[in-house]
Amino acid sequence: MALKSWVESANDPATDFPIENLPFGVFRGAGQDGPRIGLAIGDHIVDVAGCYDAGLLEAVDELVQAACTAPGLNELMALGNDAARAVRQTVAGMLRAESLMRSELEPHLVPMAHTEMLVPCDIGDYTDFYAGIHHATNVGSMFRPDNPLLPNYKWVPIGYHGRSSSIVVSGTAFRRPHGQTRPDPNAPPQFGPTRRLDYELEVGLFIGRGNELGERIPIERAEEHAFGLCLVNDWSARDIQTWEYQPLGPFLAKNFATTISPWIVTLDALEPFRAAPFARAQGDPQPLPYLAGSQRGGFDLTLEVWLRTPAMSAPVRLSRGSFGGMYWTMAQLVAHHASNGCNLEPGDLLASGTVSGETKESRGSLLELTWGGKEPLTLPNGEQRTFLEDGDEVIFRAYCEREGYARIGFGECRGVVLPAT
Ligand code: CA
Repeated sequence: MALKSWVESANDPATDFPIENLPFGVFRGAGQDGPRIGLAIGDHIVDVAGCYDAGLLEAVDELVQAACTAPGLNELMALGNDAARAVRQTVAGMLRAESLMRSELEPHLVPMAHTEMLVPCDIGDYTDFYAGIHHATNVGSMFRPDNPLLPNYKWVPIGYHGRSSSIVVSGTAFRRPHGQTRPDPNAPPQFGPTRRLDYELEVGLFIGRGNELGERIPIERAEEHAFGLCLVNDWSARDIQTWEYQPLGPFLAKNFATTISPWIVTLDALEPFRAAPFARAQGDPQPLPYLAGSQRGGFDLTLEVWLRTPAMSAPVRLSRGSFGGMYWTMAQLVAHHASNGCNLEPGDLLASGTVSGETKESRGSLLELTWGGKEPLTLPNGEQRTFLEDGDEVIFRAYCEREGYARIGFGECRGVVLPAT
């Protein structure tokens, strides 16, 4: 049964942010000096630091209260998921329709339209995985037709260390990058603006409580280290990538910009939307014990990609897929990342890898949708696209829906491509 709030917009069945969601973010309001921690509710933000100032968080531990006044989420993340749970539950209680606290809490609600969202924490390290087997197979068959899925794929979650300094929040425009490419294998390489700019639809996981250097995270405890999920656009320059990726993997084809959605949806909010544990195909190896254990399923999260070209007034949907069919769960990615004793820190970001399904309409990149540029997309207004053009805006959306539960949404992850300088 959906809970009711006195914030009317939170009761709209189409909202991303009902009272059951209350995702964490960091915002700057009009007339406020510093960034502040907030919780999304309908089309408003609860100013959590303001709640602290007004003494509305006294039910939670003092350390947790202090963490709520920080300009980012790292301190709260470090205190573990019980801390975040206590803050959400306390605020949720005051937001309930029947709460007697409305008049106390209402002054600390800010309309989203009057705020600017920021990157929600200091992201010390960023790792990008490759957990979608359909994406790995599609890309592999374009880059290596004779050998699409490498023999390690079903045994070890593949990933690489990305760059956190170029992670930007939704709504930040970025320039088309320059790079070295070799379009003609019989001619020398060239340097110039990428001609094959793409997006990658991914889900990100923010680490909450970390692990000490040298300590592993058992798979059974991996989710205790997950503060929550967001959307990630791993912008990719395919022509640069093709030329540079061997033998050490992605580098300048990826690190010019990565866009994240501003709200971090907690695993508590997603719990009603568990997917059945992933069933590996017959003949596939079972995960090694450190990746198996008592793992639970992932989440039945629906993901959409929308495109708005400069000639369009409204965006069009390019694809829709599900996060439920990933080959490795986020818990497995966390356990694997720490399996050598690598220390994960509060605020670290782990991205899933491109989420693509079996069908064409569920492919999470233009590389796959246009099959390497060979099958251009025709948009409803007659325009064609193989890769992104200047002025194009890519918008990701995600949500969980299940009969009997309030819809849980992620908000949007947007970015516009500016011309190269
Ligand atoms: Ca990626």
